[in-house]
Amino acid sequence: MDRDHINAACQCGGVTVSVTAGTTADVNACHCRDCQRRTGAPFGVIAWFAESGVFIDGETRSFARKADSGRDFTSHFCPRCGSSLLFSAALKPGVIGIAAGAFADPAFPPPVRSVWEQTQHNWVDIPTATEHYPRGRSG
Ligand SMILES: [Zn+2]
Ligand SMILES: [Zn+2]
Repeated sequence: MDRDHINAACQCGGVTVSVTAGTTADVNACHCRDCQRRTGAPFGVIAWFAESGVFIDGETRSFARKADSGRDFTSHFCPRCGSSLLFSAALKPGVIGIAAGAFADPAFPPPVRSVWEQTQHNWVDIPTATEHYPRGRSG
């Protein structure tokens, strides 16, 4: 790993993502049912970056669903190993989401925002979040 970039990858390594170091990440924990089903975990954690700082290598497939806003939320996953690695939202032009876990870095910045807490599993707590929403950020 070089110092100019931070790197993320899927399980099999077929898709890699390089982010220019110093690009600010907006890290969100989402407890919505779609993120629960998407990840298989009680919540998803996505770091959103300006797309100008994100470089993607490898083939992905995508799955789009309607977010609560009625706009598309698209997951981009590795067709070989199935890891969901990248995200785009019609509501957030110019930014790309990267699964926080794909960085495999215990020192990765923690979530600052916790959304869809109305379906949060009752043992889960996001102590680093300074913003909490029962639904989406706008709802
Ligand atoms: Zn893969
Ligand atoms: Zn969600």
